[in-house]
Amino acid sequence: MVTATKLLCSCFSATVRFRSSSPTITVLSSIDRFSSHILFQSSPLRLHQLTHTESLSISVSGSSSPSPMTDCLPPPMKILESKWRPMCLYHTQGKCTMIDNAEHLAKFNHDISKDLEVSGDTVLQNQCSSPDLDRLLVLDLEGKVEILEFPVCMIDAKTMTFIDSFHRFVRPVRMSERRVNEYINGKYGKLGIDRVWHDTAIPFKEVICEFETWLASHNLWNEKDGGTLNQAAFVTCGNWDLKTKVPQQCKDSCIKSPPYFSEWINLKDVFVNFYKIRARGMRSMMTELGISLLGSHHLGIDDSKNITRVLQRMIADGSPLQITARRSSSGLDNVEFLLENRIK
Ligand SMILES: [Zn+2]
Repeated sequence: MVTATKLLCSCFSATVRFRSSSPTITVLSSIDRFSSHILFQSSPLRLHQLTHTESLSISVSGSSSPSPMTDCLPPPMKILESKWRPMCLYHTQGKCTMIDNAEHLAKFNHDISKDLEVSGDTVLQNQCSSPDLDRLLVLDLEGKVEILEFPVCMIDAKTMTFIDSFHRFVRPVRMSERRVNEYINGKYGKLGIDRVWHDTAIPFKEVICEFETWLASHNLWNEKDGGTLNQAAFVTCGNWDLKTKVPQQCKDSCIKSPPYFSEWINLKDVFVNFYKIRARGMRSMMTELGISLLGSHHLGIDDSKNITRVLQRMIADGSPLQITARRSSSGLDNVEFLLENRIK
């Protein structure tokens, strides 16, 4: 029996020290390629994943043999340098006015790509995963009564690299000011981001105008071409976002549902067909793939990033991608599902 004297994972670094010169535990610092987290493998082939806030002590059984080095601890191994920080939610919306403030920059992440990095090896292995698509737009709406947040992460469909993001908080149009305050307090107050929501939220109609400008700037959409996406597809976790919520919100906002919202890839359906595992949501897909949660669950921009990390892993694993749902031109309520085996 060998005792690991210290196994600590923090935001800043990880230190591993053993009393044995040949411990049966291996540090696998690069397995989880899409996060800044660390995996440890201990005998017999069990993976332990630590988040940036966890620490633990473990005992390791195994093949240690007496060694002159037994009591001579090696110098600490520095594995993780960078500290995970929450996103600046003004910056994600193009509204940060503190970009020159060092204290603000130290506290908040201003580079969304940091959580979505892909290794060079993975890029080379997956050139043909979705031949008909250039860009994937991962969308995860928040807000049950009316949409409160509209976040999109764009990645390259071939290389999986992060390209750009679009993020807006959305101000309801059919609720009283008092109801909006209660709603936002209940949802975002506990995350400490109700202030930024109130500072930045704009009506859905304006969000759609700005989103279309953003799509056009990436040559993914042109109103004159019929209004559908050009070589791009939305990726969602479930059908609710585009089947149900967007048409409802368009009705509430008195606008026509844009044609580019008429088809999408439901990642849960692709997941069940590829891995043969029925994952019911983002967190269960992440658990099945051993991907740790980054940020706050139910903050839309963080959920979009986490769904993007699942998508990146699935492409890396060789999962084919295809449109899974398409709205019929005969009516907004008619949606055809294109995969037989799907999550209902
Ligand atoms: Zn900022």
